[in-house]
Amino acid sequence: MSAAVRKIAVALGTLLVLAALAFAFLPALLEAALNRVGQRPPYAAQPWARELMKDSVDLHADPLLWGRDLLQRSSRGQVDLPRLQEAGAALQVFGAVTQAPSGMNVSRNKSDAADLVTALALVSRWPRGAWKSRRERALYLAQRLREMEERSNGQLFPIRSRAELLALFDQRGKGSHAVGALLALEGSQALEGDLAAVDALYDAGFRMMAPTHFTDTEVSGSAHGVAKGGLTPLGRRWLRKLEEKKIMVDLAHASPQTVADVLALATRPVVVSHTGVKATCDSPRNLSDAQLAALKKNGALVGISYFSSAICGTDARAIARAMRYAADVLGVKHLALGSDFDGAVQTPFDVTGLPLLAEALRAEGFSDPDIRAIASRNALRFFAAQLP
Ligand SMILES: [Zn+2]
Repeated sequence: MSAAVRKIAVALGTLLVLAALAFAFLPALLEAALNRVGQRPPYAAQPWARELMKDSVDLHADPLLWGRDLLQRSSRGQVDLPRLQEAGAALQVFGAVTQAPSGMNVSRNKSDAADLVTALALVSRWPRGAWKSRRERALYLAQRLREMEERSNGQLFPIRSRAELLALFDQRGKGSHAVGALLALEGSQALEGDLAAVDALYDAGFRMMAPTHFTDTEVSGSAHGVAKGGLTPLGRRWLRKLEEKKIMVDLAHASPQTVADVLALATRPVVVSHTGVKATCDSPRNLSDAQLAALKKNGALVGISYFSSAICGTDARAIARAMRYAADVLGVKHLALGSDFDGAVQTPFDVTGLPLLAEALRAEGFSDPDIRAIASRNALRFFAAQLP
C-alpha cells in the first residue's frame, strides 16, 4: 500500500467511525433537543405539595420512542422509573407512536408525508420488521416495555387488568414503590386497516387506543389531518371491537367530527389522555366548551397537558389555569394529569417537579381533596372501572 493510498484509507476509516458514532448518538441528540424542560431539577416545593402529589397517575407520556433504558435515571427527557419513584408516582400510561409526519404541525398534515418514525426506527436499529410496518413498530415498543418490566424486579409493574391494578395497590400499601405501566396506542394507523390487529395489540398489552395521531387514518379523521372527517365505517366497527374487549378509547388528537361520532355511539366512558381547553388556549388540538359538556355526559376522563401549545404558557400556573377552567365546566371528578412527557415537547418541569403543580392548583383555588382527585384518585377509579 503506497503512502497516499494508506492516507486515503485512514481518512475513509475515520470518516466511517465518525459516521457510525453520529448514527449511534442521533436518537439521544434528537431527544435532548426535543424533550426539554423549562427548569431543570431539583425543584424546591413545599412538603404538603409533595404529599398531595403522592400516588400520581399520568394519562400520557412517550418515553418509549427514544430508546432510553427507562430503569436508569437520565439527564435527558422528562420521565423514567427512578424519577417516577422519586415523585411518588403510582401509574404511568406509556404511549406508542408509530407515525409522525415530517413538518408536523397542529393544523394540517398529509397521511403520506415522509415519516419521522421511519427515520428513528432506522437510526435506533429497531428490528427489521419495524422499519416499515406500523403494527410491528407498536408491537416492538410493547416488547421494549415488557422487557424493562421484567428487568425491574417488580418495580415497573404491568397494568393490563383490574386485578393487576389492585395487586399494585396492595403492594404499594405495604410500602412498595412499584409504579404501574399501562400501554396505549397513539393512533390506529398501527392497525394497517385490519381490525384483527386489535387482538394482537391487546395480547401485547395495549389497553388504550386512539383512532388517530397527527394524520387522518382508516379509522377516523385527526384534528391535525387534511380531511378531518369523523369515524369511517371501519372506525365504527373499531369502536365496537374496542368496547367489547374493554380497551379504553382515547380521543386526544381526534377531529371534532370524530369526537362527536364516538360520543354519539360510545356505550362506555372515553379518555382524552392529553389535551388543553380552547377557553385558555385556542388551538385545534384543544377541547371546546361544547365538547367538555359532551364528555361530562359520557363520564369521560380528561388529562390536561403541560406543554405550551396545549396551555398557552410555560409554567405550572398555565396548567393549573386550564385545569381550573376544565373543572368548572366538566366537574373535578373527570379531570386528570396528561403530561405528554417525552412527546417531543418542552414542559415546565420533569416528573419530579409535579409538586410545583400542586402549589399552582392551590393558588387556583382547588382544595386539597380536589388536588388529590386530579393527581390520582379520579384516574384510579376510572381505570378500576374500565380495565378488563
Ligand atoms: Zn400526542
